[in-house]
Amino acid sequence: MQKDELISLTNKMCKELLSIIDEQEGATKEQVANYLQESAQLILSATDQDMNSTGFAESLFQNAYKDIAKKSLSSYADTNEKISKLTKMHERTLLECNAQHIDLPSITTKFDEIQSHMSDEVKKANEIITQLTTQVRTLEEKSNLDSLTKVFNRRALSSYLNNICSTKKLSYEFHMLILDIDDFKNINDKYGHVAGDKVLIFIANILKKTLRDGDKVFRYGGEEFILILNRIDDAHCKKIANRLLDLVRGNKLIYKGDGLRVTMSIGATRYSNGDTPDSLIARADKALYKAKDGGKNQMYAEIK
Ligand code: GH3
Ligand code: MG
Ligand code: MG
Repeated sequence: MQKDELISLTNKMCKELLSIIDEQEGATKEQVANYLQESAQLILSATDQDMNSTGFAESLFQNAYKDIAKKSLSSYADTNEKISKLTKMHERTLLECNAQHIDLPSITTKFDEIQSHMSDEVKKANEIITQLTTQVRTLEEKSNLDSLTKVFNRRALSSYLNNICSTKKLSYEFHMLILDIDDFKNINDKYGHVAGDKVLIFIANILKKTLRDGDKVFRYGGEEFILILNRIDDAHCKKIANRLLDLVRGNKLIYKGDGLRVTMSIGATRYSNGDTPDSLIARADKALYKAKDGGKNQMYAEIK
């Protein structure tokens, strides 16, 4: 994550806070000060290493996320209060209906009034939901994290690779692995999209836990991940890829009482001077194709 992105995120948080102070009587000075202090502390204490760490991006994201959640809860409470006033109006109107003398025209007018207030409230609530959804999406993009699996997203991959490939002569070696879940469409078809999402989270967690500091995990596409492994040789890279394959195939995921059998295929390659992000990915992809072609559930390395 770049410093200027952090600055613009902080500015956005400040603006949101100012609007909370303007809009809500509920936001106390302490809450606001604490929130700003927390965000400032995070940014001030960030080192270059933090800037590239998933944990840092995540905490920044969650910090801002908390504010959005608070906002949505208070706007919900606000709407709820209005709805409860309307319910009371509704009850009073019904009581009038039970009285001996029924003034039909005036009761009809009251019900119409209630109806129109109700639809106004629902409209307002929908507008708030749309606004908050947009804010969450912007935050996800700014934090460079994939919202489902909480590994880095494709945007982060692209800036990471552009950066590394534009270095004239890289002083260390790195390897790239492309991982693709085997027959993932079948998992979705048989168990549903929610089960498919859980499998993606499960794989992402295995990848995060297995890798060393400095290695990177990105979600490249739907059921594809890219790993960057720094400072290892070809033999070590193959060992890591095979370890990942073992961990995935050895795990028994249970979904609604059924054991899901999950495997993946891996294409591996080594960075070579002069590579562009595209040439690197193309070579890893070619290796992945060979792993799939060879029967899936295996790795293949394509070294230049
Ligand atoms: P192969 O072994 O050749 O890779 O086959 P496959 O079925 O894994 O590959 P295919 O490209 O045919 O299907 C990928 C599926 O991934 C289709 C799509 O619905 C699913 N998918 C993509 N993104 C997501 C997601 O975020 N959640 C879920 N549940 N499914 C996703
Ligand atoms: Mg695929
Ligand atoms: Mg697949």
